[in-house]
Amino acid sequence: MMEDTAIRSILVVGGGTSGWISAAVLARFLDPRKTRITVVESEEIGIVGVGEATVPIIRNLNGLLGIDENDFVAATNGSFKLGIEFRDWGETGNVHFHGFGDFGDDIGGVAPHHHWLKLRRLGDKRRIEDYSLPYALGQRGRFTPPNPESGRGDSDYRYAFHFDAALYAQYLRRMCEARGVVRVEGRITNVAQHAESGDIASVTLADGRVLEADFFIDCSGFRGLLIEQTLKTGYESWQHWLPCDRALAVPSSSEGEPPPFTTSTALEAGWQWRIPLQHRDGNGYVFSSRFTDEDRARELLLANIKGEALAEPRLLQFEGGRRRLAWAHNCVAIGLASGFLEPLESTSIQLIQTAIARLIDYFPERRTNPAIRDEYNRLCANEVERVRDFIILHYCLTRRTEPMWEFVRSMELPETLAAKIDLWKAMGRVPMMTEESYQEPSWAAIFLGNDVLPDRYDPLVDRIDPDMLARGMAARRADYAAWAERMPTQAAYIRRHCAMPA
Ligand SMILES: Cc1cc2nc3c(=O)[nH]c(=O)nc-3n(C[C@H](O)[C@H](O)[C@H](O)COP(=O)(O)OP(=O)(O)OC[C@H]3O[C@@H](n4cnc5c(N)ncnc54)[C@H](O)[C@@H]3O)c2cc1C
Repeated sequence: MMEDTAIRSILVVGGGTSGWISAAVLARFLDPRKTRITVVESEEIGIVGVGEATVPIIRNLNGLLGIDENDFVAATNGSFKLGIEFRDWGETGNVHFHGFGDFGDDIGGVAPHHHWLKLRRLGDKRRIEDYSLPYALGQRGRFTPPNPESGRGDSDYRYAFHFDAALYAQYLRRMCEARGVVRVEGRITNVAQHAESGDIASVTLADGRVLEADFFIDCSGFRGLLIEQTLKTGYESWQHWLPCDRALAVPSSSEGEPPPFTTSTALEAGWQWRIPLQHRDGNGYVFSSRFTDEDRARELLLANIKGEALAEPRLLQFEGGRRRLAWAHNCVAIGLASGFLEPLESTSIQLIQTAIARLIDYFPERRTNPAIRDEYNRLCANEVERVRDFIILHYCLTRRTEPMWEFVRSMELPETLAAKIDLWKAMGRVPMMTEESYQEPSWAAIFLGNDVLPDRYDPLVDRIDPDMLARGMAARRADYAAWAERMPTQAAYIRRHCAMPA
């Protein structure tokens, strides 16, 4: 008889965003009669509770889980996000926008930023954002979901969400429990390993209960209860590239209608986020403790929020980097337990989502096959390193002169990023590597937003008569403006479809 090697039980350790997303995806793919899924979490410890901005890939997760988006936005007091507005990055007064969409269709097979560059050389001073539909919508406070099926230009953008992180975890929890996931409340005080293999055998709770499983997902947050404290996989720090290691977070009252984008404002030793929700704003100053202190950070944070602070600022400490192994023995770390990149591009929830999807793709048996585990680890490492490079790009292009900004401008870059910058400067293109989350229009938005123009544009642009090109680009701008004017405001859309229940 063939040995039964199937995983019969999975214990998810942690009930934050990563724990509940992982459980929800597992419950979606596994047969509950064959595989028991349990989430253990501790209310006493709580969740980090600050991940409130997302990127468009979250819509794939919603689709997979059968989530009705309007219901989801209502339940999480959420709003819509068309991109990120960067203020004072590059230099004080600079404003640029990383929108969820490209700068329109290619023209004659050449990306639009090359045509923009040619017009610029001819004296046209318009910004690249003038060719971004998400920007046109964002500036006017407009939102309605695009209809990609229509094939029309006015649907050529993507979107994501802002939400209340605590409400999001509760929303996912309700969905998981309805689908057969068992939740256990309790604080883990001990982890037992099999003597021979070193695999994790069980966890023990403070009240003495023992939870056994075939496979474990470590979603215990920064502490990495299983992956680090038990399996000791080690941490690769990226602090020499990403010196920010603290955040002070504070909610504030809403002022006016929430804009449909996140704002990131560079400050003297880091940057401040504003995430507008229906009932409040989330704010936080991400800073480097090497270059400022907590008192000064608190002062700047509170001076730069729009409404009134609704609580005392809360300090969070972190170290940018990744766990050397995301999968070790019979345990996969997901979320903060697997590493952390500062939230400049709101990528942590994306990495949670791709990690659990990848685990489904490379699903284990009871005895871990090293070939499967190693490939999983390779893909996770590639993905997070590509995101890391994109985040470092925002810093290293700066022209600001405060000590932290001087440091990031002159630091030695990862080779993979240096290669991208070199090719961009040489010819306005960005080499795409494997597991790349950000495509060329995103890179172009950050390069051009920081006034880093390539030495030349694509010579194929010169096939087009300059007057005709100028007319075509003007028509594109006019279309975006007209389409945006016709759309409802985000506030009207929310009131109509997804206002938070009274
Ligand atoms: C300043 C900051 C801003 C951020 N902003 C964003 C953003 O805008 N967008 C984004 O995508 N991400 C953001 N993130 C990241 C995001 O917050 C996390 O990726 C996300 O919340 C997932 O966290 P988690 O579930 O891994 O960990 P946590 O939320 O910390 O959850 C850990 C869970 O483990 C449980 N646990 C721990 N130890 C034990 C134990 N001994 N026994 C039992 N249970 C235990 C806890 O009770 C909790 O349920 C931000 C992070 C920080 C620090």
